[in-house]
Amino acid sequence: MRTSEKRDSLTTDTRRKIKFLQLTFFIGIGISLIFGASATFEQRYILSGIGYFLALSFAISLLHIHYTQNPLITSYFMILTISAFIFYMTFKPGINHSPWGLILPGVTMFLLGCRKGAAWLAFYFSLLVIGSFNAVAWDLYPYPPAYQARYLAAFFSVAIITFFYEKTRQAAHEKSIALLDELSEKNRILSEIANRDGLTGLLNHRALHEQLQLAFAEASRYKYPLSLIMLDIDNFKSINDRWGHPIGDKVIKQVSAVLKSTLRGSDVRIRFSEDPADDPTQAGSFQTAARYGGDEFVLLLLHCSDDHVLRVAKRLLNNIRSISIQACDHIKVTASIGISFFDGQDVTLTPRQLVEQADQALYIVKEQGRNNVHLNYPPLAN
Ligand code: GH3
Ligand code: MG
Repeated sequence: MRTSEKRDSLTTDTRRKIKFLQLTFFIGIGISLIFGASATFEQRYILSGIGYFLALSFAISLLHIHYTQNPLITSYFMILTISAFIFYMTFKPGINHSPWGLILPGVTMFLLGCRKGAAWLAFYFSLLVIGSFNAVAWDLYPYPPAYQARYLAAFFSVAIITFFYEKTRQAAHEKSIALLDELSEKNRILSEIANRDGLTGLLNHRALHEQLQLAFAEASRYKYPLSLIMLDIDNFKSINDRWGHPIGDKVIKQVSAVLKSTLRGSDVRIRFSEDPADDPTQAGSFQTAARYGGDEFVLLLLHCSDDHVLRVAKRLLNNIRSISIQACDHIKVTASIGISFFDGQDVTLTPRQLVEQADQALYIVKEQGRNNVHLNYPPLAN
């Protein structure tokens, strides 16, 4: 995975940690270099070596974060360095730097999270307690006992407050992620409902027009042929009248199943995008088959010659003729098909005209007795 791809897949929390680490390492490099240089100037070579070593380690950490986009190892390194530095500052003979220790709980909780953060702070706090009680014995900076107690109490309080703060923050963060997931799932369901026909699961009229615009734009751009098949069940009203509406619904469902299986069985390639991930046939769905209205269906076929479309249409009619419905032995289902064809070249043609031409062809078939197919190409004048 490239660095930019890794960056895109990160959560906002991880991204924030990475930004924080980058900023702190950057400042750390500056401070360590100044520290190293001033120690060199004072001829304290061990200290200056430590300063330069730290600057180098921070630079390596910066590179590590940049290439891995994973803040875990550098977080441990950061906490260790800050803890060591603050411990040194707390017990450094001379000036009292102990208040700096109070930055540790916040940084630790933020970078390591509640559990690991609490474990590390408990360990560090034990070191502080041991250090404070042995300060005189170990010849460390001897705090007055009252100050030692106040400092330990302050550190402990800040650690507890930060723990609860981080716990609340993490819970809120997880809840907002769960809500976002739920929202996007609901949006997906809503868009399914908005685009699909409830009875057949095919695209509905509105979604078909969207797909038609897309397919037409692609056909014009790449000069691909595009066919529009309009199919209408013959004498459907009499099926409803004779067998009842629930059986009529079953017929509509069966016809839609035939559309899906016939398309699947044909070698028609339907492609709306350069990206195979967007290719409806690759996804196994037939987004180009739609229920256009009551007993009317529309199919869009891209990349298909006029001969090929005619063959597909005839196969559809055959398969519809063999529809049988349980407990309705004598039911006869046939359909009529009108086809319009865009050769990918005609710049005057519009998607709307393509629909009108298919409708015109369907009308001709109905007029001539139904149960047949007509290709309106070259198109009749309106
Ligand atoms: P033609 O061969 O000329 O198409 O004749 P037809 O009887 O099929 O006429 P038309 O296509 O105009 O009839 C459509 C009928 O479909 C009218 C309507 O009552 C019925 N219909 C529309 N939607 C549904 C549905 O969801 N379920 C059922 N059972 N019937 C429906
Ligand atoms: Mg009809």
